[in-house]
Amino acid sequence: MDVDRIVQSAKEELSACTDAHDLDTIRIKYLGRKGSLTALLRAVKDLPPAERPAAGAAVNAAKLQIEELLSAKEASLGGARSGSVMPEGVSDPTLPAHDGIAGRRHILSRVFREMKNIFRGLGYSIAHGPDVELEYYNFQALNFPEEHPSRDLQDTFYITDDILLRTQTSPVQVRFMDQVEGLYVDTDVTMADLKKDVELFTREMFGPNTRIRFRPHFFPFTEPSAEADMSCFACQGSGCAICGHAGWIEIMGAGMVHPNVLRAVEYDPEVYSGFAFGIGVDRIAMLKHGVNDIRLFLGNDLRFLEQF
Ligand SMILES: [Zn+2]
Repeated sequence: MDVDRIVQSAKEELSACTDAHDLDTIRIKYLGRKGSLTALLRAVKDLPPAERPAAGAAVNAAKLQIEELLSAKEASLGGARSGSVMPEGVSDPTLPAHDGIAGRRHILSRVFREMKNIFRGLGYSIAHGPDVELEYYNFQALNFPEEHPSRDLQDTFYITDDILLRTQTSPVQVRFMDQVEGLYVDTDVTMADLKKDVELFTREMFGPNTRIRFRPHFFPFTEPSAEADMSCFACQGSGCAICGHAGWIEIMGAGMVHPNVLRAVEYDPEVYSGFAFGIGVDRIAMLKHGVNDIRLFLGNDLRFLEQF
């Protein structure tokens, strides 16, 4: 009975209502935190269990009915405010536009482009290679002997016996040498040349005071091989949470092209030498933009993407 009375009185008040302010007052009176219908909904739990379902359903139905009455009234008031000139269904082109969400390139694409621009500035050109690769280019030509345990370091998806999804971007180096131009291969190329380019890159990317260091490492396709660290951009090397209090952050793998790799594409390692390095775009993007979870890049969560 209470429910019917409340709905009835809401109807009467709404039909007398003529402006948006009154409409809000009515909304609060019935549906607000201290509204009469809200109080009724709360009282349902004090009823004997057998009566609760029916009472709850009745109050909810009343709530829905009042909500509908409110939106109908709101629409009619809104229509009265602005609908005086334009016929229904025609939009007014003189109204200010909504602030739309502007699209933008993904943060990884932008970091990738920045990296490419830095290397172009150093005289590099960009090579592309296939994602589906011959076993020869992915392993053999890169000095991964058959049956060698170093192949186990990578999860490889074979399509046929000699075709696979490439497990690394290094095959592009071989293909590129194979096709004349190269990664940096020439006479008299030394590790000092490699170190200089790595240093120039990190300074462009992370600031002019960045220092680098090489630590010995192993890759089948380079000898000697190194992992390159840069001084921590946050603490300048004194140690902080970002660098794990080491003062250094690992950024890439690098080394001098292994003589066997040169031989595989018929370059005489007695005459030619070269260097190679590999940098993860996501790693650089994480460091540069303070992203602490690599999965965020692929999550397509706008709350994350809109920060950049
Ligand atoms: Zn640090």
